[in-house]
Amino acid sequence: MTQNKILLPGSKLGVMGAGQLARMFALEAITSGYEVHVFSPERNSPAFGVGAKETVAEYENREKLLSFLKNINALTFEFENIPEAALSVIEEFSGKSSLNVFPSPNCIRIAQNRWKEKNAFRNAGIPTVNFYPVFTEEDKNTVASKVQYPCILKTNTMGYDGKGQIKCKTKEELISALSSLKELNHIVEEFFSFTSEASVILARFENGKILNFRPSENIHKNHILDLTFHPGNFSDEIQDRLVFYATKLAETIDYIGVFGIEFFIKDDQILCNEFAPRPHNSGHFSQNSGGLSQFDLQLKTLCNLPAPEKITSNPVTMKNILGEDYKPDSPLWNRALSDPEYRLHLYGKSEARPGRKMGHWNYSGPNPQTAFQDWE
Ligand code: AMP
Repeated sequence: MTQNKILLPGSKLGVMGAGQLARMFALEAITSGYEVHVFSPERNSPAFGVGAKETVAEYENREKLLSFLKNINALTFEFENIPEAALSVIEEFSGKSSLNVFPSPNCIRIAQNRWKEKNAFRNAGIPTVNFYPVFTEEDKNTVASKVQYPCILKTNTMGYDGKGQIKCKTKEELISALSSLKELNHIVEEFFSFTSEASVILARFENGKILNFRPSENIHKNHILDLTFHPGNFSDEIQDRLVFYATKLAETIDYIGVFGIEFFIKDDQILCNEFAPRPHNSGHFSQNSGGLSQFDLQLKTLCNLPAPEKITSNPVTMKNILGEDYKPDSPLWNRALSDPEYRLHLYGKSEARPGRKMGHWNYSGPNPQTAFQDWE
């Protein structure tokens, strides 16, 4: 492994993407004396709002991307759906320069493609649901006889928060869903009736040192994360296996940086669903859990700063604020804002559209289970 340089304060850190994750990274990095430069098609982005310098261009714009890369010392990503054209420019440029790119474009390619991702889990010995490709006409004609029902037809790429997914209870429903597809490049997954969902936030440094938070328990609403309880109420044995799987993945794909990995659990069965090659919504608890946050760890891994021996975290419950929950004038918000145990994080988005992530609350008081009860 080649040793990348340590980047000290004053260095210029680039982020592909300029939304809330880039914003929260920029808050940490700028406070620590770094410059943050974001590349995205959005003007006046959430990251720009906290002092990041903005390059506004399409991701495929080779000229703009090259001049952005020439001006920074390290590059990271706030989301995985970066077009291949941009990933190959980044790879080509970093191969000829001293630019730190963490995680590697290859890890991004794995995370943005469900087929590659699930195969990476299998190669690392991590159990997943059974899954089948719908890449050819022949796959399309035969998959309905192979899969167990119920199942879910999912787009292979560009899917997130349940988008591009059709649940099918019977063979007839799957055949009908398949016949309505406008393009191939899908997968079919068997449905797993889990009783809980968990995630692990992990950071891996260039020297191979791994740090992780204890697993959290996540509750989704309409396929979007609603609540995270940290730490999750899991047995020691389940927690150990979740961390073991997260570690296995990081080592097998030689991941450097922070990721969030999500699991389904039923009794003592654990199946891995997906991972996100960046800080994760279910890791926002770490901003108020008393130690390093996932964004601090993103900064440390990106800049090759010394890894702490271990990380600790106090209990926190996180609740997402979607467009429909954005009620700054409500008695509920006023009550929470007058209580120092509730911390509000907003992403600087002006338009509160339904389903749009506007911010989150972190609660770090003595009642983690009930902190957001009756908030609907
Ligand atoms: P995904 O976009 O794959 O993360 O799916 C979003 C959510 O849909 C997950 O967090 C689960 O709640 C649910 N889901 C996705 N795939 C499955 C599956 N194979 N079995 C059961 N639930 C699933």
